[in-house]
Amino acid sequence: MADTPVPFFRPSIGEAEIQAVSECLRSGWLTTGPKCRDFEAAFAAHVGGDVTALAVTSATAALHLGLEAMGVGPGDEVIVPTLTFTATAEVVRYLGAEPVFVDIEPDTLCICPDAVEAAITPRTKVIMPVHFAGRMCDMTALRALADRHGLRILDDAAHALPASHQGMSVGRCGADATAFSFYANKTMTTGEGGMLVTADPDIAARARIMRLHGIDRDVFNRFTDTRSSAIYDVVAPGYKYNMTDMAAALGTVQLGRVEAFHAARIRLVERYDSALAGLPVILPPHAAKGDVHSWHLYILQLKDEAPMDRDGFIQGLKDAGIGSSVHYRPLHQMSYWSSRATGQAFPHADAYFNRCVTLPLFMAMTDEEQARVIETVRRLLSA
Ligand SMILES: *Cc1c(COP(=O)(O)O)cnc(C)c1O
Repeated sequence: MADTPVPFFRPSIGEAEIQAVSECLRSGWLTTGPKCRDFEAAFAAHVGGDVTALAVTSATAALHLGLEAMGVGPGDEVIVPTLTFTATAEVVRYLGAEPVFVDIEPDTLCICPDAVEAAITPRTKVIMPVHFAGRMCDMTALRALADRHGLRILDDAAHALPASHQGMSVGRCGADATAFSFYANKTMTTGEGGMLVTADPDIAARARIMRLHGIDRDVFNRFTDTRSSAIYDVVAPGYKYNMTDMAAALGTVQLGRVEAFHAARIRLVERYDSALAGLPVILPPHAAKGDVHSWHLYILQLKDEAPMDRDGFIQGLKDAGIGSSVHYRPLHQMSYWSSRATGQAFPHADAYFNRCVTLPLFMAMTDEEQARVIETVRRLLSA
């Protein structure tokens, strides 16, 4: 037992998911259709309030569609935290605009509102907060800032389902549009997939059209609405970002389990927190008062007095058969992005990166698996 490896992540796919996908396969309708429509309706209801949810192939696609619908183009600037996955920034370049990187707050690991304000220029169009690890950014402060400067907000909620800010669910807590990810290791999955959520009818209308080739109505209507003819119009050079019905069938079942997944994650986080307190580590930041954290990731930062550095610690975990990860090397350190961030300093993200390690945290993690992780972390750091 002591030698059984503990993976960094294992998905939770049950019989209900397998049955839902099988049913879709037997139905004869595979691409965007009734399962996508049901998934979108369930997702919008989960977010709550009057929002449109558009199922797409990834969060990257959702971010791209969101920025495009906000009219971002060449010459525009979009403010992005340097501590994120490259997808957040790459979609800015898809549209010929420039990402402007800003540092994080060391105590939340989220984008720093003061750094955002300092980075605003006459070219700035959009702010892209990332709810890092599932901890909500200060959306109240960011919304006030955006309103003061006439900017839009597209939040990257790839880590943040379910989560909320001051009683408002992510997706309707101050952003103009929000992107979710259903990648295999996110808090719920469709294998690959994403969702764009917005309460803005103009963003919804534009993204709906651009999601499918710039065609003025979607395939479901084209094939099932007997009143519409087979003749359609193309109003823009759109993209091919529509979700399959197989993925949506899987997503609807996973969404129904998302609160149970969340409860399991919270239990694991509480155990980690109490077992690892007192070691030479900084424990992950919790939600601000009144917010809910999704706990997508459990990230430790090794303190200076730890008996080894981050890479040595990761090797120690690996030698014990325990998976771990690093989220993330800041974008300004990456070959492609570094030339776009010259002359800027990101001391908080740099310091964080040198110390950070992400421990396994997933719904299907057993008590024995977590006990092995805890025992190994304690052994490595008590030396
Ligand atoms: C996973 C992730 C994405 C991209 O999600 P996909 O669905 O794989 O496109 C974007 N941003 C962040 C912060 C992520 O973690």
